[in-house]
Amino acid sequence: MEFLAPTTLADALAAKAELPDAMPITGGTDVMVELNFDRHRPPALLDLTRVPELAEWSMDDGRVRLGAGVTYTRVIEELGALLPGLAMASRTVGSPQIRNRGTVGGNLGAASPAGDAHPPLLAAETEVELASATGTRRVPIDEFYTGVKKHAGRPDELITAVVITPPSGPQQFSKIGTRNAMVISVAAVSVALHPGRQEVGTGIGSAAPTPRRAPAAEAFLAGALADAGLWESRRELPGALAAEFAALVRAAGAPIDDVRGTAAYRLHALAVMARRALTWAWSDYRRGTVAAQGG
Ligand SMILES: Cc1cc2nc3c(=O)[nH]c(=O)nc-3n(C[C@H](O)[C@H](O)[C@H](O)COP(=O)(O)OP(=O)(O)OC[C@H]3O[C@@H](n4cnc5c(N)ncnc54)[C@H](O)[C@@H]3O)c2cc1C
Repeated sequence: MEFLAPTTLADALAAKAELPDAMPITGGTDVMVELNFDRHRPPALLDLTRVPELAEWSMDDGRVRLGAGVTYTRVIEELGALLPGLAMASRTVGSPQIRNRGTVGGNLGAASPAGDAHPPLLAAETEVELASATGTRRVPIDEFYTGVKKHAGRPDELITAVVITPPSGPQQFSKIGTRNAMVISVAAVSVALHPGRQEVGTGIGSAAPTPRRAPAAEAFLAGALADAGLWESRRELPGALAAEFAALVRAAGAPIDDVRGTAAYRLHALAVMARRALTWAWSDYRRGTVAAQGG
């Protein structure tokens, strides 16, 4: 197997143009498992760990541009205040070793319905940056996932970054697995409040062929909060609102039975976690503990 190790993004993109079947490898925490179990035998590996452009994050017009090679550990240590939902999800990934190697870009590249980065990225306003030797484009996150472990990137493209608008209010993430650590989720939910534009964001994981939003739940809650003047008053969240939101998140799921859990359990878990995540986010909003609140 050929091993390509470019040291610039231009060289990496040229290599991908020349050998579209080359498999990118960043942290390798998914790729090495696939190779070890002989599930794939790509003609070449394209190692991206020496490409400095992928390993950085920056602010770009109020948005975070997170390089595809930034590890979970760095998201936790450096971006907890700006991207609380993604940082919470990152804390639940694997073990310290996996978080030190694994990246958000690799989670997107694998596009597993169970990937933990997806729900908070869906709940925020996110675009995935894809680059090839011929140019760069940005794909809205909810158009990125095209099927089970499939995404919108072309064979000649690399994921170079995700561009995320930090929510103007609190964001929460909830995941359930068969134990507390080193576990792939059985179901996951993220909820973001965007008081600046009076909108709500959601993302659900392990509950459909792809990670997805729950648009009916988002529209219901944003409208109900506005109708009741709750965005301004920050009064206690009526239980009926949380219950209806949870029911609509549940209705957005289309899970399967598998070794980790049944479809019925996943739907139940979605509703429980949606209610909890919303309740936590609303308490944060009421307490005004989020730095950017009201933005
Ligand atoms: C023990 C263990 C525990 C784990 N626990 C969790 C968990 O709790 N939650 C979770 O979500 N995941 C978990 N994972 C899976 C894995 O760690 C994550 O999916 C991680 O985000 C992968 O990142 P990586 O950089 O290691 O990707 P890699 O393994 O390098 O790549 C993953 C995929 O993305 C592609 N790819 C990588 N970079 C790019 C790029 N720039 N452009 C295009 N394609 C690219 C690769 O070709 C491959 O298909 C676990 C894995 C292990 C081994």
